[in-house]
Amino acid sequence: MKNQAIDPVCHMVVSEESTVRTDYEGRIYYFCCASCRESFLLIRRHTWRKKQLIRSVI
Ligand SMILES: [Zn+2]
Repeated sequence: MKNQAIDPVCHMVVSEESTVRTDYEGRIYYFCCASCRESFLLIRRHTWRKKQLIRSVI
């Protein structure tokens, strides 16, 4: 049975087998595509508040 995760950028459901992922503060985030991952990395660099927004979405 496959686990699924939510892309924190576009909120699409993605498989946890996705290779587009990043590790952040001990959690792994999965993305539908590389450009969503880039957006996530930019957001987390620019503001710390957005990080909490992303967490509340998940
Ligand atoms: Zn996405």
